[in-house]
Amino acid sequence: MPQRTLIIATRNAHKTQEIRAMVGERCLVRDANDFPDFPQVEETGTTFLVNATLKAEAISDCVDGYVLSDDSGLEVDALHGAPGVWSSSYGGEEGNHARNNARLLDEMKDVPLEKRQGRFICVMVIARHGKALAHFRGSVEGRILTEASGHGGFGYDPLFAPAGHEASFAELGAEIKNQLSHRSRALVQAMEWLAQLPD
Ligand code: IMP
Repeated sequence: MPQRTLIIATRNAHKTQEIRAMVGERCLVRDANDFPDFPQVEETGTTFLVNATLKAEAISDCVDGYVLSDDSGLEVDALHGAPGVWSSSYGGEEGNHARNNARLLDEMKDVPLEKRQGRFICVMVIARHGKALAHFRGSVEGRILTEASGHGGFGYDPLFAPAGHEASFAELGAEIKNQLSHRSRALVQAMEWLAQLPD
């Protein structure tokens, strides 16, 4: 059977790297960095689902084949769900992980250990020919550490310890993160959906 190509509607190489590792040989994974003409999609929604839909529909309008988007972020209970859909610009500058983490630590500086629960959320949308066809949600519970630790992963990984672990995602490394993460939990469902399609 020829390998299906799956286009990820992102320019975030970290997301693509994780998705590619989890997809393995099942699909050829490409992303928006392979298609310089793809538009920059404005994430104007206030929910992960709306933003994931915007990205998947806009990119699938520009290319033949199945497009998968990932809109994700960190929800912290003590911050009433922030940074949430605004995770990537929480520190004031889009995609600046150091500033995002610095703001998160600052906002949490007076929050005691027993009240530092949060979760990563990932919503994936599969679209084709400009229309969303299916969506999937994954989440992983954990807590926000009091200082950054570890060098793996990206984004808030050095500050997030998944439930059942003392170490952060950044310390646990890609293999364990990819077994537990919000992204892996959404992707398992997306791959099952894709596997049912006729060739
Ligand atoms: P998006 O590109 O709008 O989906 O924003 C995703 C943002 O959420 C990233 O820039 C990170 O700040 C955060 N995020 C999402 N997934 C992860 C993850 O797996 N690890 C750490 N941070 C993440």
